[in-house]
Amino acid sequence: MVKAYAALDAGKNLTPYEYEAQILNAKEVRINVQSCGICHSDISAIDNAWGKSEYPLVAGHEVIGRIIEIGSDVSLHKIGDRVGLGWHSGYCNTCEYCKADDHNFCGKTNKTIFGQYGGFSEEVTADEVSVIPIPTELNHNNAGPLLCGGITVFTPIIEFDINKNHKIGIIGIGGLGHLAIKFYKALGCHVTAFTNSKDKNDLLKTIGADEVISSTNKNIIKELGVKFDLLISTVNVKLDWNLYLSVIKPRGRLHFVGAVLEPIDSSVFSLMWGRRSISGSPVGSPKNIKKMLNFCVEHDIEPIVEHFKFSDINNAIEKVRSNEVRFRAVLSW
Ligand code: NAP
Ligand code: ZN
Repeated sequence: MVKAYAALDAGKNLTPYEYEAQILNAKEVRINVQSCGICHSDISAIDNAWGKSEYPLVAGHEVIGRIIEIGSDVSLHKIGDRVGLGWHSGYCNTCEYCKADDHNFCGKTNKTIFGQYGGFSEEVTADEVSVIPIPTELNHNNAGPLLCGGITVFTPIIEFDINKNHKIGIIGIGGLGHLAIKFYKALGCHVTAFTNSKDKNDLLKTIGADEVISSTNKNIIKELGVKFDLLISTVNVKLDWNLYLSVIKPRGRLHFVGAVLEPIDSSVFSLMWGRRSISGSPVGSPKNIKKMLNFCVEHDIEPIVEHFKFSDINNAIEKVRSNEVRFRAVLSW
């Protein structure tokens, strides 16, 4: 039997849970979980905030571990490899997006925490394509958050061809946001951090923010003027999007990665002026996860994490819920 921590109902504390080892398909690998980050999407899944959770639910999709078993047709990995697994645990591998290395746009993805048991467990299974080798240079104890949080804010660099001349704003500085600051600063961009937590100000400057602005003080945001090429929102609450649009330069964009449930109420005139765009994106492809991990090696980037034992999982989740973690909670056995 495999030991895990499961939500038995929406919003409830997780409880120790045992299940029979998941069946391994020919193209899948079994990973012994060494650590797993807690992404806010895990909390949304535990709470059934998106209406698609089924219980018992074992969340956790920022896995670092070692491969302990491989299916008969696996060619990309071998037993003993140190690997990571993020949001997607499989793809169709045949559609136009998978063929173009855009697996994260595949219409038939498997999710690590839906329809199977995720990483708050001793082990997890996944299609070999979604499993990513972790470079030896990275500190594996802290690398888990790169597999979901990291790739989600790294993807816009590639999608929008971001370079050092761009002015970037990151709205909400938690697990995703702090990695965004590190990535865009490492690229050489001017980075503005928008936060609702006054106590984060100094820390955000030390990790690379050129300026730190209140994410909710409308007057201060207005005073910034039209200056951003790209604003990335990582928050899951509704903010004044028209105000944020108004500080975006011509051809710039407001890009959503935070899963805010309320519809966007944007002014079409604000979009027409300067051909501004609003967009969003899901995590990133295996190809780009590898690219991001190499970028982290090259620029000596690692997530800032607080470590918890799996036995302390409910305390860790509570700290994530109350926005007390700086900046990502990581669980280990
Ligand atoms: P997180 O660590 O909890 O960070 C979210 C941040 O949002 C908080 O640290 C806080 O930043 C800000 N925030 C929270 N409540 C707020 C409020 N009431 N008003 C203003 N700001 C508030 O969460 P995360 O793991 O980074 O995830 C962020 C979002 O991204 C979640 O919705 C998650 O589901 C989503 N997500 C999406 C993808 C994707 O593929 N697109 C992938 C992963 C996660 P400050 O303290 O700085 O204000
Ligand atoms: Zn996530």
